[in-house]
Amino acid sequence: MVEFQAASGPGNIDTKYAYIDGQAFAIQKGETILSFIKRHKGKKEVPTLCDAPNLAPFGACRVCSVEVALEENGKTKTLASCHTPIAEGQYIYPNSAPIKQLRKNIIELVLTDHPLDCLTCEVNGNCELQDVAARVGIREVRYPKGANHLGRTKDLSHPYMTSDLSKCINCYRCVRACDEVQGAFVLSMAGRGFDSQIIKGMNQSFMASDCVSCGACSQACPTSAISDVFQSKAITATATTRTICTYCGVGCNLDVSTSNGEVVSIRAPYDAAVNEGHTCLKGRYAFKFYNHPDRLNSPMIKRNGVFEKVSWEEVYDYLAEKLTHYKEAFGADSIAGISSSRCTNEENYLMQKFMRAVIGTNNIDGCARVCHSPTALGMQRTFGTGAATNSIGDLKHTNCILVIGANPTDAHPVTGAKLKQFAMKAGNVSIVIDPRRTELARYADYHLALRPGTNVAVLNMMMYYIVTEGLADEAFIAARTEGFAIYKEELLRIDLDEMEAVSGVDRNLVRAAAIAYATAPNAMSFHGLGVTEHSQGTFAVMQIADLALLTGNIGRPGVGVNPLRGQNNVQGSADMGVQPHQGAGYLDVTNPEVNARYNQFYGVAVPAEIGYKIPEMFDAALAGKLRAIWIIGEDVVQTDPNTQKVIKALEATDLVVVQELFMTETAKYADVILPGASFLEKSGTFTNGERRVQAVRQVVEPIEGTKPDGQIIIDMMNKMGYQQDDYTPAGMLAEIAQIVPFFAGITWENLGSNGKQWPVAPDGTDTQILHQNDFKRGKGYFEFNPFVETEELTENAKDYPYILTTNRELEHYNCGAMTRRTENEKILTSDFLMIHPLDARTHLIQEGDWVCLESPRGKVDVKARITDEVRPGVLSTTFHFPEIMVNNITSDIHDSEAKCPEYKVVAVRIRKSKGKIKALAES
Ligand code: SF4
Repeated sequence: MVEFQAASGPGNIDTKYAYIDGQAFAIQKGETILSFIKRHKGKKEVPTLCDAPNLAPFGACRVCSVEVALEENGKTKTLASCHTPIAEGQYIYPNSAPIKQLRKNIIELVLTDHPLDCLTCEVNGNCELQDVAARVGIREVRYPKGANHLGRTKDLSHPYMTSDLSKCINCYRCVRACDEVQGAFVLSMAGRGFDSQIIKGMNQSFMASDCVSCGACSQACPTSAISDVFQSKAITATATTRTICTYCGVGCNLDVSTSNGEVVSIRAPYDAAVNEGHTCLKGRYAFKFYNHPDRLNSPMIKRNGVFEKVSWEEVYDYLAEKLTHYKEAFGADSIAGISSSRCTNEENYLMQKFMRAVIGTNNIDGCARVCHSPTALGMQRTFGTGAATNSIGDLKHTNCILVIGANPTDAHPVTGAKLKQFAMKAGNVSIVIDPRRTELARYADYHLALRPGTNVAVLNMMMYYIVTEGLADEAFIAARTEGFAIYKEELLRIDLDEMEAVSGVDRNLVRAAAIAYATAPNAMSFHGLGVTEHSQGTFAVMQIADLALLTGNIGRPGVGVNPLRGQNNVQGSADMGVQPHQGAGYLDVTNPEVNARYNQFYGVAVPAEIGYKIPEMFDAALAGKLRAIWIIGEDVVQTDPNTQKVIKALEATDLVVVQELFMTETAKYADVILPGASFLEKSGTFTNGERRVQAVRQVVEPIEGTKPDGQIIIDMMNKMGYQQDDYTPAGMLAEIAQIVPFFAGITWENLGSNGKQWPVAPDGTDTQILHQNDFKRGKGYFEFNPFVETEELTENAKDYPYILTTNRELEHYNCGAMTRRTENEKILTSDFLMIHPLDARTHLIQEGDWVCLESPRGKVDVKARITDEVRPGVLSTTFHFPEIMVNNITSDIHDSEAKCPEYKVVAVRIRKSKGKIKALAES
């Protein structure tokens, strides 16, 4: 800070100055008077009410007013400091006598229409109005009682959101949070003057409105006019712990408040780089699963078909004896493990180490197999590294977004809200490639509503037009890529008529979108499971990467390829070696040098042959080759395709060990249950979709009878004769840093509040942008892959003419084991089938009717939601509820390269039903 008396005059001619109470301070470009004062005099110098850290300046309350003159002791003008830009030579008087009187008067007027029940109000002690009133010296209100709004009724309609608008001070913070942070536009101000009031939707209740329950309004409200059932602004909590959300790969930071050893509420820290004071309803409100009565709370062994509770010692002895027996009698490869992307990096590292170093097999895999394994493989083939190249924060630097096969406003809500804000802003370009008219598609400049399963056809068309329009970045291609000449030759041979026909997308629209992407100064792509969960998933990912190479959109801010990772730690579980072909740090298990390194590091000989991927585990079980499987935090029966095959595979396996929070559909088929701990009960790290390794801090003790998952694995390692120290995040990270090259500089202590993005150099320097000067594989690699129709359609389309695809809903997460044990269940109560009005009419189906979906694998009943979000001939459904078991009808066709199941194209036929099949499934 440059600081001197005005009389001495500025010393640096390049620095511009303004004055606070006569003292000169340097100004910064873009500052308001308020931010200028805060920077030099502290946050408390000027009181505010309508100002908030994550909202644009608004100037509603005028409490932040200051006097401003253009010369020392000159004529002053009173201005709201929050939205008035600072200018050189201004003389600011933040707390002059007239200003103090003005503020006091404003607050007095506010209080004439505000209940004076502070002592019983939920925010007593943490109310910004109360605080400002005290600061400006209110002792009494001089104005007589008049008309007021104290009789407004409370809105208690919603499972989470509440309002008591008698406490509203019309600061607009809730409305602005709804608009500027979430982009939901549910809250608004109706009426004028004295009649102005906050309304939800068309003056409805929270529950009846389109509120997405993100809680941004509740957090923004300075009083308790808008709040939540957890009273998250109350000061009853005795401690607050910063940790990371357990749901999706966005990796939002959470401030978790506790009292008497229990979680009472969650808020979003404003200084979190990932979520900047925002969350979705899952992160903020869906936490009550952690101490739900359904939690498994004792190890159990199934004897004579019945689960019996046993001690930890007994279950460890039982497992050690069984696993040792299978290993000796049938070989280590008769045992397999599925680790969990719900668990920490350290726990995933331990599980793969257990399978490799203790059991002696590479049969270890995780849920990435069924979601983003094509992303990892495709990006590794093209770039050498299978992870996001940039960060979500790069939206500030980009001009164009391409969102393909992803519905982030439901599946990655905080990132989705940012993408939506980007799409709504004039001048920005957004392209959505998706069969559904998703929320983002409605805001997009170009929506390419392709037929499911034809991503490769459309992406090839886009690249064809970029090349033929002369928009390829020749200099970048020449300097940093290889394989382009052959690639181009093959690309230019594609049959546009055929591609247009199979995809159903007008070639002119594809051309326009391609030109928009290629001509944007900076273009970023985001992709999701609508790209990967296809028979050509890996090839489509390679095309998205090629699109970036072709246009030079790689290696700088605001560009790159950014997969939207599904589960909270799916990136981390693969980083830690939860894959059958790559160990910790993505090192090739078949490479003799790598094998020697692992042998030396783990102190035992580890196998050098590639193990089973998850679908291969089930095939091996059905072939009688798998004796035991240990599944951690993964409900394969509900979420993997072809449910009946999965069930048969589990039934064919002698020993099924399930480590879980709840009795899931998979746990019902277990022989041994190990009760693990939730994210609130343990410490470690999660790695989000932008390679950010963040500290997960234990908030409460594990519920009685359970253990943190890492400690369970360590106990079993020691029981089976492999010495491993007890679990601490610091100790585990110190071990991981020695074997995972890109974790070299990560320690528990240096993660701080916002984590580090890998690769992290030994000195702790992290990396926001990959591939800035070169690629991990040297040069970026072009490879042409033609569109090939999926076998699911070539074999079945004649008899099953509709295409079913799958999607997620905002309120639930995957199998719903956690969200269905929260009040989210009251907001979204069941799975449903999206069906176009024309198809509904053809089959005499009405809204809410049961629809029987039949595929070559079986039948399920799902309730209809008639919508033009899907095209005629295309259906879409969720699979959050076990009652429906949609995966009874999905196929076990996989991506040809990574073996990711093709959830997104299922050939079905439909008819109206009475729900008999559902009833049968339940019975
Ligand atoms: Fe959690 Fe994802 Fe929601 Fe953030 S966006 S709060 S990480 S579920």
